[in-house]
Amino acid sequence: MCEDLRSNPRKKGKVKESRESAREGEGLEEFLRRERAQGERNMDEDFVNNVLRLGARYKGTELGGKKRGGGAGEDEEEDVDMKMFQSRDDRLTDVAAAERAQQAAITQHKAQTAALSQCKLCPGSKAFASRLMVANGQHVYLQLVVGSGLSQQHCLIVPMKHTQAATTCEEDVWAEIDTFKAAMRAMAKARGNGILFMETALGFSKRPHASIDAVPVPLEVEQDAPLYFKQALLEAADEWATHKKVITVPASGGIRRAVPRNFAYFAVEWGGGGGYAHVIEQEDRFPADFGRGVVAGMMGVDPPRFNRKGQGASAAEEQKLVDAFQKHWAPYDWTSA
Ligand SMILES: [Zn+2]
Repeated sequence: MCEDLRSNPRKKGKVKESRESAREGEGLEEFLRRERAQGERNMDEDFVNNVLRLGARYKGTELGGKKRGGGAGEDEEEDVDMKMFQSRDDRLTDVAAAERAQQAAITQHKAQTAALSQCKLCPGSKAFASRLMVANGQHVYLQLVVGSGLSQQHCLIVPMKHTQAATTCEEDVWAEIDTFKAAMRAMAKARGNGILFMETALGFSKRPHASIDAVPVPLEVEQDAPLYFKQALLEAADEWATHKKVITVPASGGIRRAVPRNFAYFAVEWGGGGGYAHVIEQEDRFPADFGRGVVAGMMGVDPPRFNRKGQGASAAEEQKLVDAFQKHWAPYDWTSA
């Protein structure tokens, strides 16, 4: 009914014209007084406009005289009252909605702060392994994967800001991810290797920190990757999946052109650009290390090698690996310029 009143212009003309004009000033004054008495600080412009619009028809008692639930056959005066209340209700609804939004923002901020304080990929977090950061851009950094790496130069390309997926990061972050990819690609190419980029973006309710695996691989592994990944994705995909199991990712625009924001997905990209993506519908059934598993299979590396617990390298070993990486990376390190 409320919507009907608001949207039906015919009703406007049906309001009774029987009020005496002498009541106009009185009504408005009474309304203003009531508003002040109730401690209302912000006058509702719509409401005032309604009062002015109604003019002689406004009797000043609409605020207190409202009867809810008026139905068909009721006096048309009820329509006027309803309209007056509609404006006020709208305002109260706005205030309530604003409070709810603020509360939600606070809750989200708290959850975000808690997630960040334990985040292994947030540079400000205590859990962050700064010793493994091998390049530091403006928005994105490069972290060497030690212990569970598929090859010696296996890195993570990571947005500095806690972001859940490449599809949701900002433009300048995305551009810098591309710059890192290009540099990693050039480094791999110079060594006669190919490279694969993979991202598994899921479990958004747990507020993950997005990262992209950059895995230098033998050239033939990169060449075979489309075939292997297509097969693996078809097999891994949910039987009742509503999305296409294998989405082609364009070389230009990448994953952001292929998968809508806030969808969980797995994406793999080949060195030359372009790749495949898969929208993950049943997150609990999609292995978080799916991509690494496929690459391990292609490289003939035993997957448990990177799943095994207690494989932590010593600080000295880590430093050695970092130094080795830096030697290869130095000519391509655009961040040190
Ligand atoms: Zn983080």
